[in-house]
Amino acid sequence: MPSTDGFVDFSPIDEQPIAEVSRGGSIEADRAVGSARGASATWGSMPPKERADVLRRVADGVEARVAELAAVETRDNGSLLRSMRTSVMPRVARNFRFFADQLLALETGRKEYEGFAERVAWDPSGVTVVITPWNAPLMLATWRVAPALAAGNAVILKPPEWAPLTASMLADIAHEAGLPDGAFNVLQGVGDEAGAALTAHPGVDRIAFTGSVPTGTLVAQAAGANLTPVSLELGGKSPFVAFADADLDAVVQQAVNQFDNAGQVCLAGTRLIVERSMHDAFLERFVKAAGAIVQGDPREETTDIGPQITREHFERVDGFVQRAKADGATAVFGGGPNDELGGLYYRPTLFTDAPLGSEILMREVFGPVLTLQTFETEDEAVELANSTRYGLAAIVYTGDEARAERVSSALVAGTVWVNCFFVRDLAAPFGGARGSGIGREGGPWSFDFYADVKNVCTAPWN
Ligand code: NAD
Repeated sequence: MPSTDGFVDFSPIDEQPIAEVSRGGSIEADRAVGSARGASATWGSMPPKERADVLRRVADGVEARVAELAAVETRDNGSLLRSMRTSVMPRVARNFRFFADQLLALETGRKEYEGFAERVAWDPSGVTVVITPWNAPLMLATWRVAPALAAGNAVILKPPEWAPLTASMLADIAHEAGLPDGAFNVLQGVGDEAGAALTAHPGVDRIAFTGSVPTGTLVAQAAGANLTPVSLELGGKSPFVAFADADLDAVVQQAVNQFDNAGQVCLAGTRLIVERSMHDAFLERFVKAAGAIVQGDPREETTDIGPQITREHFERVDGFVQRAKADGATAVFGGGPNDELGGLYYRPTLFTDAPLGSEILMREVFGPVLTLQTFETEDEAVELANSTRYGLAAIVYTGDEARAERVSSALVAGTVWVNCFFVRDLAAPFGGARGSGIGREGGPWSFDFYADVKNVCTAPWN
């Protein structure tokens, strides 16, 4: 149901308006909770096999509309069209198929003990609110909507106001797939209106939030007032540690990849920390490889990175860059807007010489900005890597397996990638350590959160 108020959605590609979107507030949030509550008994009591079938039909619906979803997402958030088409939208469909399979594979863990038996029941928990950011809107939404629905919960999705469009397309797909009315709701609106109203609502049973640390803190506070369980996937400032025994070509290529999506990736290894003996060779090759990056319209096949999401975000990124310079860091690559392209295109940037503890080393920029530091010893590498309050991910490049084991054990991070990046099975736990989040999702970890896990303890019958 549309609200009476609206807001204009702009494309980052050319800063042109592309849609007028409903702007829900507390009245609409209340209606959405009522609608979800009304549907949760029907959806939650449906046998798992039938629920799984509906989720698979949602996956079919996504697959049938991959090209359209990809085109809309790219226009809305400026991500590369080719990766939307070939990897991101197929992954959206996979999220539904995967959690349908997981639902049917849930273990009851039935065990006999002396004098009693126990089994685990994965009950639906009721109404789940999912709040998502703009950098990969549909993929991140479905990573949480799919397991919440699989667990038998009714879901309210609050998409990001800077890239809201594909969420509404998903609502159509879910409806066509036969999800009962009210089991999946999209509440469009602005964060501190619609989002705040949902997270403070006492009728909500789970909150799954993906976004920045400051907003995550507000969400946790609102959830705390009602003791609503909350799962937070927040920002990062991940270290990318490269030892001199690593394959330098692979290190350089992967380091340059950290500019992907114009740096708007939570997991990006934005702090390059390389062994001093390889510094010069690394820097020379990095600058060459980064110089070959093609920036431009994300719909073009030849483009590597596109624009920043909005003017406000662009200015925020530039603020970090200018303050880093004022703090004494040197921009050895990039260091400002892409004046040739204009608009929201920001040049990929690499800083060296940032003073220890300075803002550019400590705070997430969420733009195409990397820093380069060096180390002499393994201990020093670990200390630099662990020196922020974030702990989302870490990347390690080394040719020494024993070292890889030691260093990955010592790093504080939800995910450590050794000689690779971004690959992950959906069954693996995912989440952030320290300030990067609370909780883990993925495979059975998702059901731990979305289901109301119950222990049924039964005395012998005879
Ligand atoms: P954000 O925190 O500004 O907004 C995220 C969502 O929260 C949006 O939908 C917004 O409307 C909503 N929101 C804003 N204020 C709210 C409030 N008071 N109550 C409830 N909801 C509110 O983040 P963003 O700028 O959209 O996204 C970028 C951030 O997300 C970065 O920090 C990035 O690292 C993080 N992120 C994390 C992951 C992860 O998996 N850990 C993935 C992607 C992005």
